[in-house]
Amino acid sequence: MPHGALPLFPEAVEIAGPVHLFCEVVFDRPLDHAYSYGVPESLRDEVAVGKRVVAPFGRGDRQTTGFCVGVGNEAPSREVKAIAQVLDDEPLLTPQLLRLTRWMADYYMCGWGQVLNAIVPAGVKQQAGTRAIILIELVPEMLRPNPPPTLTARQQGVFDILAQQTDPVEVHRLASLAKCGAAPIRVLIDKGLAQRKKGRIENVELEEPATPDQSTRRSTAPTLTPDQLNVWAQLEPALREPGFKPFLLRGVTGSGKTELYLRAIEEVVRQGKEALVLVPEISLTPQTIAAFQGRCERVAVLHSHLQSAERGGHWRRIATGNVQVVVGARSAIFAPTRNLGLIVVDEEHEGSFKQEATPRYHGRDVAVMRAHLENIPIILGSATPSLESWHNAQRGQYTLLTLPKRVEDRPLPHVQLIDLRHDVHPDRRLHGLSPSLERAMDKALEQGGQVILLLNRRGFSTYIHCPACGHVEQCRFCDLALTFHRDRNICMCHYCGYETPPAERCPDCGQAQVKYQGMGTEKLEIEIKSKFPSKEVRRMDSDSMRRPGSHRRVLEAFRSGETHILLGTQMIAKGLDFPNVTLVGVINADLGLHRPDFRSGERTFQLLAQVAGRTGRGPRGGRVLVQTFSPEHPSIALAAVHDYLRFAEAELTTRRQHNYPPYQRLIRLVIRGRDQEAAGAYADRLAAAFGPAVEAAQKASSEPGELRILGPAEAPVFRLKGYCRYHFQLQSSSSAFLHQVLRLATPAVRPPKGVELTIDIDPHDML
Ligand code: ADP
Ligand code: ZN
Repeated sequence: MPHGALPLFPEAVEIAGPVHLFCEVVFDRPLDHAYSYGVPESLRDEVAVGKRVVAPFGRGDRQTTGFCVGVGNEAPSREVKAIAQVLDDEPLLTPQLLRLTRWMADYYMCGWGQVLNAIVPAGVKQQAGTRAIILIELVPEMLRPNPPPTLTARQQGVFDILAQQTDPVEVHRLASLAKCGAAPIRVLIDKGLAQRKKGRIENVELEEPATPDQSTRRSTAPTLTPDQLNVWAQLEPALREPGFKPFLLRGVTGSGKTELYLRAIEEVVRQGKEALVLVPEISLTPQTIAAFQGRCERVAVLHSHLQSAERGGHWRRIATGNVQVVVGARSAIFAPTRNLGLIVVDEEHEGSFKQEATPRYHGRDVAVMRAHLENIPIILGSATPSLESWHNAQRGQYTLLTLPKRVEDRPLPHVQLIDLRHDVHPDRRLHGLSPSLERAMDKALEQGGQVILLLNRRGFSTYIHCPACGHVEQCRFCDLALTFHRDRNICMCHYCGYETPPAERCPDCGQAQVKYQGMGTEKLEIEIKSKFPSKEVRRMDSDSMRRPGSHRRVLEAFRSGETHILLGTQMIAKGLDFPNVTLVGVINADLGLHRPDFRSGERTFQLLAQVAGRTGRGPRGGRVLVQTFSPEHPSIALAAVHDYLRFAEAELTTRRQHNYPPYQRLIRLVIRGRDQEAAGAYADRLAAAFGPAVEAAQKASSEPGELRILGPAEAPVFRLKGYCRYHFQLQSSSSAFLHQVLRLATPAVRPPKGVELTIDIDPHDML
């Protein structure tokens, strides 16, 4: 590279000699562009795209860590400063991940550096689980030194060993091979015969999957059913050739979707490629993991409670191509595979794929984009697809694959609705169990079956109120009622974690008789134990599952038959496959129905379908009893007859009427501040900026865009974690137009100090 051809740097920059290399750096800030820097001579060999660098940035040129996203020798038009340091030995990101994250930054409207910083695990950045080592090698020209150096016998011994090696040797190993201390090695270095090199070795024990022996492994693959064969005939060709092909696999619970994922994975692994499987965190049960490990070798499981060293170890193992199948929750979509052949997103409708912190991405949507960028097939699977994916399949964006029946012609369980308005207990009080459900439990248990009960609310009582003055105990920081937890004798806010001891008397009127009302899983557990004293009952919710391993223990006790009744929150609704469960009871199907959220009906339908799917999985069949105050609500009535198609049709009609997704794209802006007035004033200023922005966007684009702006309004939960919150909903049929308007409007009005603006693209949280 000719040195003179490129400009020198201004004096302000402390670089010795001419600079002819530049790099682009993004920082962990909400900025929409990269910054150019010069690369000093000393860092030329080290700098690379995908490594982190330290560079002067922002006010006061503070040395700041960022990601290098470009290297080139074309000088930027402006004067630039120089990077000070390169932090990583190897790039942390593959070219594919760089492209994917670039897209995420654009689409989710956040900084590229923010995305990169979020997706590279801390354990990778800190090189947790590795140890720095010193390697020694001969200076290449000194292999046959002339004249031969004068060396002592010890030094000569070290020299001879080094001369025999093809690779550099770790310093301690060299000393032990040469049976010497550090001194002779140092002498060789001082004489210019040998040199030091920096290296790193893995220092973490990864939990290696217990590899079942080959015989059991292969024998577990069943012969496909005719329906599965039908689906396979459409999948297989797509796996054999390159190309982005999205599939939506809708198969009722127990129809054998997992079996098809496994076949597809085996196929791409056979081709020497890797497969990536996303599942919701709560479905990452030992059973699910065993299904993959039983059929594939070299499976890495990425769950959220990995230690950072383990996570780092997995990441490096994946990056070096040592893993064939990656199974994990949302963030596993960023696994640094080299040669990806397939992505599977199981339970694609699950809300937990959406991340509720910057970058606010949806794991399924990012998965589809990744498949698109890598030009590979992707399978989205669900018994109850999200209406977004369903709509995409309807209009031909995705290929629809269907498994209409359970394997071995097992019937879907019979679902009976219990109208809580009529099915009342003789004592006229509201119990967790209606008389019908109690009788059904008696019968199921008597016949040796097991029972699952769903109550999607944890704690003991879900609100505490004073019958005298009507006061309801609220969180100090949120407009939300506190939940009483009897285990810990504490009142708690489920949103911000605020805790306070239960009040002796009403804090408002002083009356002594505060009432603990509403039923959570803790209260239900007590009722069940008193009604079925001879049965083993276990509760599964995030309170009782705090300790590591508790999840596995409870499920094992249930599988072995030691536990008769398993009750819990949605944790028990998903993915469990226990053939002996002959009864599922839903304590209150209406809980999620009346939330101020356009997806509440969809979520209710999905949850009911999921939990109903937990029964009738064995030869003994099974039934479901659903307690509700609104048996005629379509989400409940249609879930009871397992009619996804009619549900989707009805729900889509409503969505279309109200301009909600999937017909329109939705962006939610949340403005929050501790000072209500400042937050409100900013919301108004932002509102005023939309008009001109829409106009400008319309002028700039060829096709006229339309946009509906709802707000500013108080958010449904106005006070949350001590902040006052206002929000906007922006709806348009064009995602590009929405983005364009926001790009024009938001930089024009920056929030004042103490006020924050959150842009949530395709929002899920509507509170
Ligand atoms: P889904 O993922 O659709 O809920 P699974 O793949 O878990 O369904 O299958 C449900 C049950 O049926 C599992 O126990 C599985 O081992 C079994 N199964 C799947 N495919 C077949 C098949 N072709 N023949 C026999 N059993 C099967
Ligand atoms: Zn709170």
